[in-house]
Amino acid sequence: MPNSRRHFKFEVRLAAYIVALAIAAASPLLALLEPASVVVCGQAALPGGVIKVVVDSRHAAKARCYFNGRRYRLFAAGGEYRALIPVEVDTKPWSSGTVTVRYKSLFGDKVLYSGPVRVGEPDFDVIKLKISRRKTKLYRDPAVPDARKLISRALSKRDQEQQWRGLFIMPVSGRISAPFGQRRVRRNKTLSYHLGMDIAASSGTIVAAVNDGVVAVAGYFPLQGNAIIINHGQGVFSACYHMSALATREGLSVKKGDAVGKVGSTGISTGPHVHWSMFIHGVPVNPADWTRMVY
Ligand SMILES: [Zn+2]
Repeated sequence: MPNSRRHFKFEVRLAAYIVALAIAAASPLLALLEPASVVVCGQAALPGGVIKVVVDSRHAAKARCYFNGRRYRLFAAGGEYRALIPVEVDTKPWSSGTVTVRYKSLFGDKVLYSGPVRVGEPDFDVIKLKISRRKTKLYRDPAVPDARKLISRALSKRDQEQQWRGLFIMPVSGRISAPFGQRRVRRNKTLSYHLGMDIAASSGTIVAAVNDGVVAVAGYFPLQGNAIIINHGQGVFSACYHMSALATREGLSVKKGDAVGKVGSTGISTGPHVHWSMFIHGVPVNPADWTRMVY
């Protein structure tokens, strides 16, 4: 064999050794870049429920979470990263969706997790809608569209920091006069779903902040009456409607249990009560879940 050919063979072998060594050296580094685990809670969520996706790694900030193709932000929560995905109230029972977590690595887009979620069948209350003609007129108030815009703009904020801690509390204690998801029907047609929980209480009872946060909205609106919306961070908001008076204003920080107003019957309301809503990224979810489960 000519000398030059032997020399060439040696060079090829040397190059192969160098490549193998480089891969061996880089692999612990590559492993570090991979999020360690993805845990999904709520694979059998009900409409109005929450799917929680936790990515456990300090590099997970670069991961992206999708549900049925829509992207949800992963926010820092303790040492982990978490996405809260709302299940819309009118989601078809027994329909299924897919949670996917993707990650951009040096070698392109990688799927870290892809798993099914099945939406269960809720036993929502059904009632025939009855509202006095005087109250129905409020729906035609010219200030209604502006109020809707203002509220949805407030709910679209996504602050990085989680403000809430532990379980949420009820804004007042009392009988639940209308649960979340109650279907309002007329001539067998669903007109609307109740997008919060109504709690009956006597007029003037103190309404408490359901958890820590910053007051995003405090004002009077034709349908909601005296209303406050609290920003709890990371796209989570609470709202209390129909109060007789407000005890806070926009921009103030509140702690769980702080007085934010008084029970009343302002706006579309048939008697003194608090309508309490919870929202994730603007989508209403069942407030009762937040009093039983730590998100
Ligand atoms: Zn209500």
